[in-house]
Amino acid sequence: MNNLKKVVSALVFSGALLQSSASLAVSVGPQHVLSQQAGGYRIQVGDAQITSFTDGTVPQDLYTLFTQTTRQHIDGLLAKNYQSNPVEVSINAFLIELPGHKILVDTGVGQLFGPGLGGRLVESLATRGIRPEDITEVLLTHAHSDHEGGLVKDGQRVFTNATVYVGKPDIDFFFNNENQQKTGYDQQHFDFAQRALGPYLKAGKIKTFSATETLLPDITGTVHPGHTPGSAFFTLNSAGEKIVFVGDIIHVAAVQFPDPSITITYDEDRPQAAKVRKNAFREFARQGEMIAAPHLPWPGIGHIADNGHGGYNWIPVNYTNRTAQ
Ligand SMILES: [Zn+2]
Repeated sequence: MNNLKKVVSALVFSGALLQSSASLAVSVGPQHVLSQQAGGYRIQVGDAQITSFTDGTVPQDLYTLFTQTTRQHIDGLLAKNYQSNPVEVSINAFLIELPGHKILVDTGVGQLFGPGLGGRLVESLATRGIRPEDITEVLLTHAHSDHEGGLVKDGQRVFTNATVYVGKPDIDFFFNNENQQKTGYDQQHFDFAQRALGPYLKAGKIKTFSATETLLPDITGTVHPGHTPGSAFFTLNSAGEKIVFVGDIIHVAAVQFPDPSITITYDEDRPQAAKVRKNAFREFARQGEMIAAPHLPWPGIGHIADNGHGGYNWIPVNYTNRTAQ
């Protein structure tokens, strides 16, 4: 069944609050930087309501971040999409509402990037009347700052009633500093993971999983090592419909859909990360799966199509905003 037919409503909450953001202490190129409270974008998948919430956006310098490519190649791909370096990248988190459950997929960056750079998830949730204590579970696609940071504020758990599900290899990797020396992976990733997940571990609120496991009714977690050792997809299967929360298999649509071999310095194992991306794109395009991605332009929900030239096109979900009849 076509999931798009089941889109029942999408609401932009709080109106369009636009203001200049001159305080943002970064240069972001020729585009105007605007702060927008977009609230939530909601779709129905089977019996579940899925809402995409924005945590904000951050500028990313693709010249220094992307590997296995050249500046010229990046510029060419961006130009085809009317973009230029640096690129403003979304941070999205997703709420799955099922009977008795309010499940967050990722939590944004919290305080880890500093003022003005993300950290807006709790504010976004509030536009739909969702309080942090209402969250029953958090599914973490992986233990990186922009996904785990929102778990804590000033060292305290934000989602006080939530159990956090995370791929076991990420806990094993990031909670052992010897792995930093062994791999040379940025020490900051280890510090942030311990800071964000430590309070939940201490409270007995972490559940880990390996390979493929059913975590909650209708929800399966699958570990796909590459971007991090415990990077995971979460698949929701409900009443014959499906959506896959894919985590960081893609950072910039304009570049990595046409050329999935391009990797990013955040990848812990770059060749493996590229392999996971290529396999996932091929499979999602073949099956026509709906996916939800944290860094595609908000709301980050849509489909992947084969472009016939060894790459792919991103097809965002069709916008719907009306009262069901
Ligand atoms: Zn990320």
